[in-house]
Amino acid sequence: MAKQKRNRNWIQEHFFLIIPKPQKDELLSSWLTRMALVHRRTLTVFLSLFVKHEGSSLSRRDIDFMFDDKLFDTIAAKSGLDKKEILNMSLRSEEGYLYRCNDCLYPPNQIRKLVDKRSHFGLMFCPRCLVEDKIPYFRKKWRYAFYNACPKHMVFLTDRCWSCYERIKLTKIKYFDEIIYCSKCSRDLRLTTSLKVLSSHHYGIKAIQWFEKGLERGYFLINNQKINSVFIFESCIRLQHLLDRREKLILDGFPMLDDYKKLCEREQNYHSKKSLSAHKNFYLTSMAYYLFQNYPNNLKKFAENNKLTYRDFMHGFKNLPFWYIKTIEAIVPMQNKTGREISESEVVGAIKYLQSIGEKVTQESVAAIVGCHFTVHKGFVRLYKNITIFPKLMLIIVFLFKKVCQTMDLLY
Ligand SMILES: [Zn+2]
Ligand SMILES: [Zn+2]
Repeated sequence: MAKQKRNRNWIQEHFFLIIPKPQKDELLSSWLTRMALVHRRTLTVFLSLFVKHEGSSLSRRDIDFMFDDKLFDTIAAKSGLDKKEILNMSLRSEEGYLYRCNDCLYPPNQIRKLVDKRSHFGLMFCPRCLVEDKIPYFRKKWRYAFYNACPKHMVFLTDRCWSCYERIKLTKIKYFDEIIYCSKCSRDLRLTTSLKVLSSHHYGIKAIQWFEKGLERGYFLINNQKINSVFIFESCIRLQHLLDRREKLILDGFPMLDDYKKLCEREQNYHSKKSLSAHKNFYLTSMAYYLFQNYPNNLKKFAENNKLTYRDFMHGFKNLPFWYIKTIEAIVPMQNKTGREISESEVVGAIKYLQSIGEKVTQESVAAIVGCHFTVHKGFVRLYKNITIFPKLMLIIVFLFKKVCQTMDLLY
C-alpha cells in the first residue's frame, strides 16, 4: 500500500509529457481529454495520475464550470502554459459577460449543464465542425444555452452517438487516437448526421449570431446604446420564461411563430421530449432576439398583446439587472399600483363597519378593510375623499351659514 502511494506521488511530481496546443474557443475538458488520450489514458485515470489523487471524483464534476484556483495552478505548472490560457478555456472566463454568480457551484441558466433530463442528454456538438477540424476538439460555445445550432454549417447541435444512443461524455472516451470516438461503440462521431436548419428558420441562425457577437464584444447595441452583455443575457432568461406561452403566445411579426406552436403541440403528444427541446430552445432564443429588435416597439407590443403587467415581468425573479428594471418600467405601465376596481359601496361599507365597532375612521384604516394601498390606489383615494370630505364640507358650510344668519339676526 505504501509503495503504491509513493509511486503515485512520484508521477504527480512530473510534468505532462505531451502538451497539445489549445485550439480556438476550446473547452478545458476537451483540451484535458486530448492530453489524456496522447498519454494513452482516459481523462479520469490521467487526472488521478498527474493532477490529483482523487482524479475520479474530479472527473465526475463539471470541470469546465468548476472554479479551483489550485487546480488551475497545477495544470499551468505541469503544462508550462500560462494560467490565463487555462482559465480562458474554463467557462468561468465568461463570468461577468454571459452570467453573474457569487461562488455558485452549478452553472446558471445561460450555460447548459452536462446532462439535463428535460433538454439534453450529454455534451452537445456539431458533427460538421468536427469533420472540418484538423485537430478535432469541443468548443466552449457548444455549452451556451443560446447556441443550439451551428451558424457555419446550418445544422442543429446533437448530444449523443446516434448509433448506440450513448451520451457524449469526454471523461469516458477510451479510444486513444482522437477525441471523436463514441465511448461505448467506438463509432466516429463525425459520421453523425444532424438535422439541417431549414431556410425558413434562418431567422434563428441570425439570432444565434447576434448573441455570439454581443458576447464576444461584451456589449450589445440596443437603440444605438451600448448595453453590457451580461444584462442582456440575464434579461433574456426572464423574457424567455414569459415568452414560453405555447398556443396562447401572441407575437405578431415573429417569423417562426407557427412552427413554435406546432412544436409545443407535438411536445404534448410525445413521451420523449429530449430531441424536441433543442428545437424549442432554438425558437425561444429567436423570440428573445426578436424582442430586442426594433426596440422598444416589439417588446412593447409583446407586453400589450399578451396583457402582461409590470408584475408579470418582475415577480419571482431575484437579482434583476438594473437595465431590465429600467426598460420594463419605461415600457409597461405599473398597473399593479392601481389594482382592481373598487366601488363606492365597498368604501361606504368599510366606514360603517369601522364606526359600528367603534374604530377610528381614517384613510388608512378604511383601505385596510377594503384591501388596497391607502395612498397608491388612485380609485380608492378619490372615492374615500368624495365620501368623507364632501359631507365634512357640507357641515362646515351649514355651520357657517347658521353663523351668518345668527349675526344677521343680531344686527336687526
Ligand atoms: Zn459546425
Ligand atoms: Zn456509440
